[in-house]
Amino acid sequence: MLPELDLEPALRWLRGARRILVFSGAGISTESGIPDFRGPQGVWRTRDPARYTIQNYRADADVRRERWRDRLDSPIDFARPNPAHEAVTRLQQAGRAPVVVTQNIDGLHQLAGTQNVIELHGTTREVMCLGCRRRSPVASVLDRVREGDDDPHCELCGELLKTATISFGQSLIVEDVDHAMEEADHCDACLAVGSTLAVWPAAGVPVRAVKHGGRLVIVNDGATELDAMADAILAGKAGVVLPALVDALLTQPPLWA
Ligand code: NAD
Repeated sequence: MLPELDLEPALRWLRGARRILVFSGAGISTESGIPDFRGPQGVWRTRDPARYTIQNYRADADVRRERWRDRLDSPIDFARPNPAHEAVTRLQQAGRAPVVVTQNIDGLHQLAGTQNVIELHGTTREVMCLGCRRRSPVASVLDRVREGDDDPHCELCGELLKTATISFGQSLIVEDVDHAMEEADHCDACLAVGSTLAVWPAAGVPVRAVKHGGRLVIVNDGATELDAMADAILAGKAGVVLPALVDALLTQPPLWA
C-alpha cells in the first residue's frame, strides 16, 4: 500500500504514451544490493572518482590491481533483479517499452527478462582487451585473478584487459549513443528511474526525448539534475514505486484503445 504516493500525475502522461523509453541508473539496482555512486550510501562518498579514469587504468598497475580486487568482491555476481527490474519487463511485455536505455553495467535488466537493452556504459559481465578489442565473459579472467594473476593481460595480443565498462575519460560506443538518441526522438514519454541524471552524455537521452516532444516522468529517491524539466516526479524507492506505477498503468486501457 502506498497511501502517500499519488501516481496520477505520472499516469496522466504514461497512459497516453504508445512508446515509453525507460532510462535507468544505478538507483534501480540498490535494492538488489549494488551500491550507487551518488546516493546517500554511494561509492563516491568514500572514494575519489578522479582515480578511476581510463588514463590511470592504462598507466598504473596499482589502479588495475585495485579494480580487479573490487571486481572479485563485487556484489554483482550474486545480485538478483528486484521488483523494479521486473516491473520494467512487464511494461515491455505489454508492448509499451520496446527499448530500455541503461547507464548500469550490472546486467540485471537482462536477468529480469528485459530485451533490447542499450547499455550506454558497457557491462561488467564481460572483459575487453584494450589492444585487440576482443571481448569475453568475465568469469574466466576472474578465475585467473583468483589464482594470482592480479594484472591480467590478453592471451592473444598481450595488451591490458579491462571489464567492458566505460570508465571516466573513455568514449561511449557511438552506435549505442546514436541508437539511444534515436529512441529518444521517437518516444512519447521517457521514464527515468534511479538516476541523478547528472552523467553526460547519458543524461542527454531524456533531454533529447523532451526536446522532441516526449514527456519526462522521473522515479527517484532524491533530487535529479533534470527535475525542472520533468512533467511528473515520483519520489521513493524504485522497487516500490515502479511496480505500483506499472500495475496501475497496465490495468487501465491505454488512451488510444
Ligand atoms: P547515481 O549514483 O548518480 O544516482 C543514483 C540515484 O538513484 C540517486 O539519486 C539515488 O538517491 C537514487 N536511488 C538510490 N537508490 C534508489 C532506489 N532504491 N530507488 C530510487 N532511487 C534510488 O547513478 P546514475 O545516475 O546511474 O549515474 C552514475 C553512474 O553510475 C552510471 O554511469 C552507472 O554506470 C554507474 N553505476 C552503475 C551501477 C550499476 O550498474 N548497478 C552501480 C553504481 C554506479
